[in-house]
Amino acid sequence: MSPAPVSSTFPRLSAALDAAARPVAFWWRDDDAGSATPALERLFQVAGEAAAPLALAVIPARAEASLADAVAAANAAGLPVAVAQHGYDHGNTAAAGRNVELSDDADAAWLDGRMAEGWAHLSALFGPHLVAVMVPPWNRADRGALARLDGLSFRAVSGLATSPVDTELPRIDVDIDVMNWDTHTSRGLAAIDAQAADGVARHLSAAADPVGPVGLMTHHLVHDAEVWEHVAAFVHLVSGHPKACWVSLDDALAAAIEPAQERVPA
Ligand SMILES: [Zn+2]
Repeated sequence: MSPAPVSSTFPRLSAALDAAARPVAFWWRDDDAGSATPALERLFQVAGEAAAPLALAVIPARAEASLADAVAAANAAGLPVAVAQHGYDHGNTAAAGRNVELSDDADAAWLDGRMAEGWAHLSALFGPHLVAVMVPPWNRADRGALARLDGLSFRAVSGLATSPVDTELPRIDVDIDVMNWDTHTSRGLAAIDAQAADGVARHLSAAADPVGPVGLMTHHLVHDAEVWEHVAAFVHLVSGHPKACWVSLDDALAAAIEPAQERVPA
């Protein structure tokens, strides 16, 4: 049986793209990678079939040589796979409340030392595929910890577009979370469709300020069969729609930095 047309799978996204006055850029961030696994292989397969560039948010303390080999092999085979830093060990340092790794409750020198050590480890593993973007675990971070990233190696931060982190650094956020974290199943096609349509609206509404690409966030290690199906349908829609295009994390970062520099007062 052939699959249903993607326009009927994501009607709101399709309508938003059909009506878009200009092309809409998308990027794809997948979180929590540490080693080469069958799930990672599947992620690369889905991305490859849709010719979609990937950005892996990698946890330095869990990053193994097998992941570096897989990323190098994917790039050599023509699938662009970039790496961004995902905290240090995805550990909570907040004294109370919700989990935060980049927390102002943590000792600043200790925390910065861990972030710098994580960057050095990822640089050694991934070389030119590492991009100077911090993806704070749980998409949350405190303002002081974020401000100090500027003095480390980071040029931008990636969190949630719907509840962005408080930072002066350029942001490259994600709009779509395919997971329902209460049930660890798919959020559902209708909810993914709504998030994507909202992301397109956000992208197109920025009249003066350039706005980053619409971001898809996935977590390959916890996808069940239905989540994989929904992710594949989504990325195929983006790849096939004449008003949509994929951008790599490198290109998104270049675009995010450029307008910030242009806005420096004379
Ligand atoms: Zn994570």
